[in-house]
Amino acid sequence: ANDDNLPAVSIRHLNFAYNAGQPVLHDLSLDIPQGDFVGIVGHTGSGKSTLLSLLLRFYPAPHGSILMHGMPLDAIDNERFRAEVGLVPQDPFLLAASARENIDMGRGLTQAQIEAAARAAHAHDFIAALEQGYDTPLGEGGSRLSVGQKQLIAIARALAGAPRILLLDEATSHIDSQTEQIVQTALDELRGKVTVIAIAHRLSTIRDANRIIVLNHGRIAETGPHEQL
Ligand code: ATP
Ligand code: MG
Repeated sequence: ANDDNLPAVSIRHLNFAYNAGQPVLHDLSLDIPQGDFVGIVGHTGSGKSTLLSLLLRFYPAPHGSILMHGMPLDAIDNERFRAEVGLVPQDPFLLAASARENIDMGRGLTQAQIEAAARAAHAHDFIAALEQGYDTPLGEGGSRLSVGQKQLIAIARALAGAPRILLLDEATSHIDSQTEQIVQTALDELRGKVTVIAIAHRLSTIRDANRIIVLNHGRIAETGPHEQL
């Protein structure tokens, strides 16, 4: 693309309030280079999910305050937006269907595409170990998986769409440390290929991030690599 040198995301003097309420984000400015792995942390209520919601266009940000690959967010057509931005929600919605169907999500992907996405998400090993592999039913809402495994499925599902930007809202509930390590590795390996913006509730998840942004009451309090925080 001819936008290869533009930041994946530019935030310019972003202010935001819900309805007529108190401002929630204050004059945020930030450039995220393509291929970076950026972590966002901050206390509860600091505005992390709000920022993610704006990046996802769940609420309209003021025109020109958010650009993706140089394009104002509100000028990107829906089809392109859906193709470029992948989301891993905090509490992924899983179908009462097989692992394969949960990654495919009706897109008609090939087994090779599904498996490549699962491998990139480091979900392949636990899926392959299920009694019917990719055909194993995951139960109502993915009931037979741990929270961490559901996030890995959600990462695979998002990566299967080959997004340029991956937004991740880390699960707040307990993830066993082994699965957490797997999520960490999967995100780290995407560096340079996919721009990853991850809201983290545990600093360890974003240990390998290029940059960590600390939000405090809707303002950027600090940015730096992990060692500096
Ligand atoms: P947490 O770590 O608890 O998820 P957060 O950093 O994601 O917190 P936000 O959910 O972005 O914080 O909330 C920031 C502020 O905006 C809070 O004061 C919250 O009460 C308010 N807020 C969040 N969502 C809404 C909404 N839909 N309508 C009105 N106010 C909201
Ligand atoms: Mg939140």
